[in-house]
Amino acid sequence: MEIFYALRVLQHRGQESAGIAVYSNGIKSMRGMGLAHQALRPDEIRDLKGEMGIGHVRYSTVGSSSMDNAQPVVMSTNYGDIALAHNGEIVNADQLRNELKKKGWAFATTGDSEIIIRLLANDIASTGDPARAVRNVMSLMSGSYSITLMVDNRVFALRDPYGIRPLCIGRTKEGYAAASESVVFDTLGGEFIRDVEPGELVELLPGEARSVKTGLAKGRAHCMFEWVYIARADSCLDGRLVYDVRRRIGQRLAVEQPVDADVVVPVPDSGRSHAMGYAEKSGIPYSEGLMKNRYVERTFIMPEQTDRSTGVMLKLNPLKSIIKGRRIVLVDDSIVRGTTMRKIVQLVRNAGAREVHVRIGSPPIRAPCYFGIDMKTRDQFAATGRTVEEIGKMLTADSLGYVSVEGLVEAIGLGSSDLCLGCLTGEYPVAVEGEKTRFQKKLDSFA
Ligand code: SF4
Repeated sequence: MEIFYALRVLQHRGQESAGIAVYSNGIKSMRGMGLAHQALRPDEIRDLKGEMGIGHVRYSTVGSSSMDNAQPVVMSTNYGDIALAHNGEIVNADQLRNELKKKGWAFATTGDSEIIIRLLANDIASTGDPARAVRNVMSLMSGSYSITLMVDNRVFALRDPYGIRPLCIGRTKEGYAAASESVVFDTLGGEFIRDVEPGELVELLPGEARSVKTGLAKGRAHCMFEWVYIARADSCLDGRLVYDVRRRIGQRLAVEQPVDADVVVPVPDSGRSHAMGYAEKSGIPYSEGLMKNRYVERTFIMPEQTDRSTGVMLKLNPLKSIIKGRRIVLVDDSIVRGTTMRKIVQLVRNAGAREVHVRIGSPPIRAPCYFGIDMKTRDQFAATGRTVEEIGKMLTADSLGYVSVEGLVEAIGLGSSDLCLGCLTGEYPVAVEGEKTRFQKKLDSFA
């Protein structure tokens, strides 16, 4: 049940499917579509008992949102059973898949996780050493991956060479565990120990979390969007509490993008800490002017645009007593497509706001993400081909202001060389075909 509760705690990271795999004389698993409590009915998972296990909630970026792609992916091999749960995206998945197809392998799913598990199975069959096989497969993959893995009764956690997606280890009353966010250990009455380092492989043993040297670390490029939007505010990622970062972003936003207004209203939930920071620094009172229906899922991570638009209307209701006749500073974490924010601006206007000034806790998103966030093509972004003023007009806002890249980096408190800012700058930590790599030297510097 502990894994099930952990998935409930991490539900914000994916709502399309959920699954658990446990080891007890072989690996047994259960997967289903929807939220963790819909996909895995508590009365059914009570029978899924084991000495160890892994779980997953899925948010699709590669592969369709279907049962075939639900995780953990489980495979039986001559060596034993393997189960794998993957957060991130393998940039060279097509190349690896094609190479394997040429060797006669067939694939049952469209996701990249099946490629990883098959590579692992192949390597384990030849080396007989799971830890060595994991290291070998890590050296073949390019992109982002935070993975938990069971090879029969051995459990591993591994993070890509830049640590793009989060992963940490801690202890609960059941023993050592790994999770995407530290909040799992707080909520389950456990203890957070540390983040998994970039390129690190950790084996979780009954009395120890043993680090296995891979020599694959290449630096740091933690995803800035985790602090801006994805992670829970009460999680601590790579030494930075998300709540503190969001508040600092809001404070910086107030300095960079001031406005004369009567009340700061957050877009709940992820805009809340940014809005508090804005109110603190600007001296404009903070008020919860939009009430959220807690039973509607996060709109950004619903797979289809129509779901997202309907989601906004179901999710938010304006409080006229706070909004009517006032000049509102509406604060949110980010604008991707702009459709959600446009609807929210209209909701606030319809509730009688005199002016609506939109302030955003990340710089404009202008370039695709190749590392696990569903922002795939430039033409979907509100900022593509538009000035900030033009985006403001599209939103029907009286004014629009974003925090700067420098402001965001300072608020996170890690250097820009330790962050992935790819979707803001168009320069990526990992080589992606047709895109610029960060710190890439200009041609004339090779003279
Ligand atoms: S491109 Fe953007 S969303 Fe993707 S990993 Fe980098 S910072 Fe995060």
